[in-house]
Amino acid sequence: MPEPLGRLQARPGPQRRSFVSEILIRNAYHVATLSDSGERLSGVDILLRDGRIAALGPKLESKHPLPPGVERECIGAERCVVLPGLVNTHHHLFQTLQRNLPAVQDAKLFDWLLHLYDIWSFIDADVVYWSTLLGCAELLLTGCTTTSDHHYVFPADAPAELLDAQMDAVARIGIRFHTSRGSMSRGRSGGGLPPDSVVQNEDAILRDCERVIARFHDPSALAMRRVVLAPCSPFSVTESLMRDTRSLARRHALHCHTHLAETHDENAYCLERYGRRPLQLMQDLEWLGPDVWFAHGVFFAEEELDLLAQTRTGIAHCPTSNMRLGSGIAPLSAMLARGVAVGLGVDGSASNDTSDMLAEVRQALLLARVAGGADALDAETALRLATRGSARLLGRADEIGSLEVGKAADLVLFPLDRLDFAGALADPLAALLFAGLSHRVHTSIVNGRVVVRDGRLAGIDAAEIGRRANTLSFRMLRQAGRAPEFGAPDW
Ligand SMILES: [Zn+2]
Repeated sequence: MPEPLGRLQARPGPQRRSFVSEILIRNAYHVATLSDSGERLSGVDILLRDGRIAALGPKLESKHPLPPGVERECIGAERCVVLPGLVNTHHHLFQTLQRNLPAVQDAKLFDWLLHLYDIWSFIDADVVYWSTLLGCAELLLTGCTTTSDHHYVFPADAPAELLDAQMDAVARIGIRFHTSRGSMSRGRSGGGLPPDSVVQNEDAILRDCERVIARFHDPSALAMRRVVLAPCSPFSVTESLMRDTRSLARRHALHCHTHLAETHDENAYCLERYGRRPLQLMQDLEWLGPDVWFAHGVFFAEEELDLLAQTRTGIAHCPTSNMRLGSGIAPLSAMLARGVAVGLGVDGSASNDTSDMLAEVRQALLLARVAGGADALDAETALRLATRGSARLLGRADEIGSLEVGKAADLVLFPLDRLDFAGALADPLAALLFAGLSHRVHTSIVNGRVVVRDGRLAGIDAAEIGRRANTLSFRMLRQAGRAPEFGAPDW
């Protein structure tokens, strides 16, 4: 048994601060509200109080004097563009430890999965904890303030409470989080793709879903953690588990999520095994509706897009992953033209191989233009997909995704006083996508708390996350007999 690695030492961190303080964002160079009216403002302030946006406008200090007993932190934004925090709708944080593996750098999805399942059979609580910190750190540093995660690998000899380690990590780092209790129940012996060592029986899955809901789901306004139920894919779960999961989610008013229509291989598998295309299968299992969103949707036919729009079923568009695995180009413009609910997702880091959220928005913009021409997607619409669109998929449209009084105090400041933005500031918002060498925020605020300050994680030792992640990554490769001849770095 390897020694447990321990966890980050408790230090004064963002989650330890209470709501007795206010934050005033002062004199912003440019504010993109991404509200319905699309209002853009210059030289304004934003006052944050009790986890919400309390006021937005010029000279707020004189209009909102400090109440007695309240501290107010002022953050100068005169060199920044301010926008609502980005929202990530698809990730597999555990994969951050298996990115860029030489053996599958050039593999397509099914071959890529077959290689990785063996390594993932060594997932334990330390892997979940440190990979969650690593992926969430990257997300926060690149503009994301709310993320979902789709954890679907629960090896037979891993502790039952894997998601508990994940929830420790997200509380530590301060991101708004929707955890998915994922699942795989159809192993190779049952005609599925994954080996039997990483699938669970259906009773155990449903019991742990109940446990995770009771322990972690918070339905209240401004909740920092919610639970989603998310069987992995049509080629790794049974129809009965899909049905039972959906019923359980309905009983608790939870959202449901899975992968769908990602590759030609998946289509072929569904036609052979179920005699139906993937979306038809989902319809028959009652897996359509505003409380369901699918990752990818690369291979939907036109009438299937109509069905998605009619049922208000959501799609997490993951352009980098689709390009990286050579899966194809999702019909984004056709989805938007029909009013399909679309958000953005970076997807797991083994198929991206980064959790760079702003880069994902740029990829969406560029890929849409490859498919449909220069006017297929404009910069502000791309950013709306990553904010308003993604918030809708998670059922949080009333709370996050735009800068409006009463909405959550989730916002990001990107610095514009860098060489790579010089000459690009006639449109400071679009500059984020068209120019810029780095996607790093200056400040990130989640739920009224500063989680990135001056470009660094607040109260978090980023170097330690890197060390632990490398140690665990090499440990898993050794366990699977796939480590390189050289050892793990010692920095
Ligand atoms: Zn995925």
